[in-house]
Amino acid sequence: MPDRVEIFDTTLRDGEQSPGASMNVAEKLEMAAQLERLNVDTMEAGFPVASEQEFEGVRKVAAMITNCKVAALARAVKGDIECAARALEPAKKPVLHTFIATSDIHLEHKLRMTRQQVLDRTGEAVALAKSLVERVEFSAEDATRSDWDYLTEVVKTAISAGADVINLPDTVGYTTPGEIEEMFRYIIAKVNAPAHVVFSSHNHNDLGLAVANALAAVRGGARQVECTVNGIGERAGNTSLEEVVMAFKIRNNVYPYFTNVVTEEIYKSSRMLSNITGLVVPYNKPIVGRNAFAHEAGIHQHGVIASRITYEIMTPESVGRSRSELVLGKHSGKHGLAKKCEELGFKLTETELSTLYQKFIALADRKKEVFEDDLRVLIASMRDESFVTYHLEEVTTAGHNPAMAMVKLRKGDQEIIQTAIGDGPVDAACQALEEAIGFSGKLEEFHIRAATPGKDALGEAHVSVRIEGTLYNGTGASTDIIEAAVRAYLNALNKYLAIRSTK
Ligand SMILES: [Zn+2]
Repeated sequence: MPDRVEIFDTTLRDGEQSPGASMNVAEKLEMAAQLERLNVDTMEAGFPVASEQEFEGVRKVAAMITNCKVAALARAVKGDIECAARALEPAKKPVLHTFIATSDIHLEHKLRMTRQQVLDRTGEAVALAKSLVERVEFSAEDATRSDWDYLTEVVKTAISAGADVINLPDTVGYTTPGEIEEMFRYIIAKVNAPAHVVFSSHNHNDLGLAVANALAAVRGGARQVECTVNGIGERAGNTSLEEVVMAFKIRNNVYPYFTNVVTEEIYKSSRMLSNITGLVVPYNKPIVGRNAFAHEAGIHQHGVIASRITYEIMTPESVGRSRSELVLGKHSGKHGLAKKCEELGFKLTETELSTLYQKFIALADRKKEVFEDDLRVLIASMRDESFVTYHLEEVTTAGHNPAMAMVKLRKGDQEIIQTAIGDGPVDAACQALEEAIGFSGKLEEFHIRAATPGKDALGEAHVSVRIEGTLYNGTGASTDIIEAAVRAYLNALNKYLAIRSTK
């Protein structure tokens, strides 16, 4: 069996299903380009039948990507499969990914089908997919809670009908490393598949075991791991790409496998995704968290200064992080800025670059050092303005409890000024926003942090706002924290308006 493990990235599909992580088409394209630089083997671009926008997103990603395989998801239903095949038409290396559940729990309560009916449907669906697209992946949803002998029958049927990849997902994050390793061994031995068939593992993190389970599945014979950047995904998330890839790399004596991922692109991918979705990476997240390479204790710092190997199992540089992330000053010029943006993975148009340069100069005037993260924040906020309905022109507050706020908004040529009173300056300003726009959301989460070090740091605010049952994440940045908070809140409201206007 080959030692290479293929990386199937599903950030744009399963990851995008995280509450509040929805991406528009432009954002998907930007992330897809970064995934190609990361050199994943396959990227799953979406679930085309879900909506017009989703179809469009998959089609555009398929047209743009040249090296990676591009996958589209479809239930084992004729309409879904045909729709996914249409969305994949422009792809150079398309993969049609179809699935049906195989556990008795799902058969009984969700599908209301017998085991025989699911077997028949598997054969029909894979055969149809194979007639439309050269490479087909079949997933047995809830495989880890399925009867292994029945699962074997389903897998054999899928392979006879033409499936090239067999994915056995732990859909509900229930399995354990020992159990999943045994399951892969058992099924692979029983099925006796032709050599070209690849077995794949897709895990969820409900018990915090997704990465451990993926590594164990590979020991059991899986040669494809499905994962997402930052581990985002349904509920507690998916297997985190960076953790699996670095585990193979750093503990190669225990896991003698390799991937083709360009690890130096990991951090960039993580930051880009976080900026696009507004989902903040926890500070202590392995590999990509802010503190993952920070040595706080004096004795550790001393050890690291003497020799890095004392407390570091990998270098920040190996995942694309630098020890000093200071990048630019006021005198770097437009050319330097363009070069840095390119390094960070952003392709900007001439107009975007000019806008960004003005923002950059304004920021460099206020704080001496501009960091990589400052730039990412500026680019994200600039990109957001392309779908913005309301622009924030000014916010002023006075007093504390009660506090009074005045906001000045612009919508096209129209200027709106609104004042409100609230429990504190942020509350007052958000109320003024809501009154100006004429609807409100429920603030469920609010974080503020310094995007960069120093007293004059750019404050970055993240909010989650629930509107009509859906969560919208917003981000905002400013050297003034009240303004950052108001920008984040307005950003979430604008996202809601943008999505509502496309319906
Ligand atoms: Zn999943």
